[in-house]
Amino acid sequence: MIGIQEYIKKKQNIILELKNSNSDSISINKKTSNLFRSRDNSSSKINVKDFNNVISIDTHNLVAEVEGMCTYETLVDECLKFNLMPAVVPELKTITIGGASTGVGIESSSFKFGFVHETILEMEVLLSDGSVVLCNDKSNKDLFFGFPNSYGTFGYALKIKVKLVPVKKFVRLNHIKYSDSKKFFYDLNKFCLQYRNDNLVDFIDGVVFNENDMYITLANFVDEASFISDYKFMNIYYKSIKEKDVDYLTALDYIWRWDYDWFWCSKHFLVQNKLFRLLLGKFMLKSSKYWKIMFFNRKYKLTEKFEKVFGKKYFTESVVQDVEIPVKNAVKFLDFFNKDIGIKPVWVCPAMKYNRKVDYSLYSTDHDTLYINFGFWDVVKTKEQFPVGYFNKKIESMVKKLHGKKSLYSDSFYNEEEFWELYNSKVYSKLKKKYDSLKKLKTLYQKCVLRK
Ligand SMILES: Cc1cc2nc3c(=O)[nH]c(=O)nc-3n(C[C@H](O)[C@H](O)[C@H](O)COP(=O)(O)OP(=O)(O)OC[C@H]3O[C@@H](n4cnc5c(N)ncnc54)[C@H](O)[C@@H]3O)c2cc1C
Repeated sequence: MIGIQEYIKKKQNIILELKNSNSDSISINKKTSNLFRSRDNSSSKINVKDFNNVISIDTHNLVAEVEGMCTYETLVDECLKFNLMPAVVPELKTITIGGASTGVGIESSSFKFGFVHETILEMEVLLSDGSVVLCNDKSNKDLFFGFPNSYGTFGYALKIKVKLVPVKKFVRLNHIKYSDSKKFFYDLNKFCLQYRNDNLVDFIDGVVFNENDMYITLANFVDEASFISDYKFMNIYYKSIKEKDVDYLTALDYIWRWDYDWFWCSKHFLVQNKLFRLLLGKFMLKSSKYWKIMFFNRKYKLTEKFEKVFGKKYFTESVVQDVEIPVKNAVKFLDFFNKDIGIKPVWVCPAMKYNRKVDYSLYSTDHDTLYINFGFWDVVKTKEQFPVGYFNKKIESMVKKLHGKKSLYSDSFYNEEEFWELYNSKVYSKLKKKYDSLKKLKTLYQKCVLRK
């Protein structure tokens, strides 16, 4: 932990840097990223890499004060020293608190505490003119409630206060199998409503392996465990869901259970093969490593080069998305998804608004509606060639039809009119005019659809 004085010093330096910059377009330079879409790199970069520390932890009021580019891995490590954790911790270690507040973050405690941004109590945001504004539910409210889903297009969060909750040493997991999607979503809804306000269940998520093999995992903190599993090396968490009814993990291993195999996406890097895992596992099993390989592949176009030499057997479209669907439409979405897209497995995570009195203007969700996040991260392979974005567009239109929402961290194919209809152009334009009056930052459409 660094304390507030060190943060203030860094803040003063970055304000100076920005005020002295005469570039008319800026973006940030940070150590890690979980942004799936590629982007152009033409803007002048402000270096926020060093804003990556925990400033302080208030164990009495259960609040952590954190720099904006602090990863959840760093934050969790500090909090666990006090038997605390952030109320919602996104699954991947390198996701930063600023990135998750301006994007849309979710985890298995979201059925209780809502999306990550609902756990944020206050922010200091660096604007493109070099000023820093404080925002919370009283001061600069419009920015505070408009920040989620703005993807850094109003400014950059330098300091954030986030809500913490107490933890126990272990987490007990109960994996419940379903073979019928109606019953699966019926029970998911029932469990969320039932356990939202008590301490019997702390976490709920699920996995759809295929049409008739689905699991809900109910998990809760416990002080003692009769055995402890470990999925950091030779064993694989997602496979254990089918194999064990009851399981125990340390609190830390529960929090990062999806990171080691990037849910199940590590299969693309061959590390689910026992021999590779044995040889490379200790070094490789981290979402940050998978990112580096992917980045390298993209940069040097290795897959394209390979296909040029060895020929192309399939056409592929990357479908890496998280969408939120109201629970009453979840069966319909899953039926559509299984039939028209076919990626397996699918991660399922319920989320419900924590405080029904507030509205996050750019990612507005209904009060009292349980949303089901469907996460799918793979490619669709076809023998025939489809137009660019064919499968992603199908998903976009189904999400709209079923009154859902789509996170914008990956590819989007909306036309501009449709996009602004979905993402509240009226409020967005007002905020943009007020907080980025110099227009030095890209717009949400430029960033999320045009990949600027
Ligand atoms: C394969 C995959 C799976 C995912 N799964 C999950 C999941 O299960 N749960 C979940 O919660 N999320 C998930 N995400 C989404 C992730 O939380 C968001 O993409 C998030 O925005 C990433 O944050 P980051 O810190 O890595 O930021 P980056 O990827 O570096 O940046 C994301 C965007 O936020 C902006 N930004 C970054 N920091 C700040 C800041 N301090 N202030 C303002 N703007 C900023 C950047 O300019 C950029 O536009 C997933 C993403 C991928 C690619």
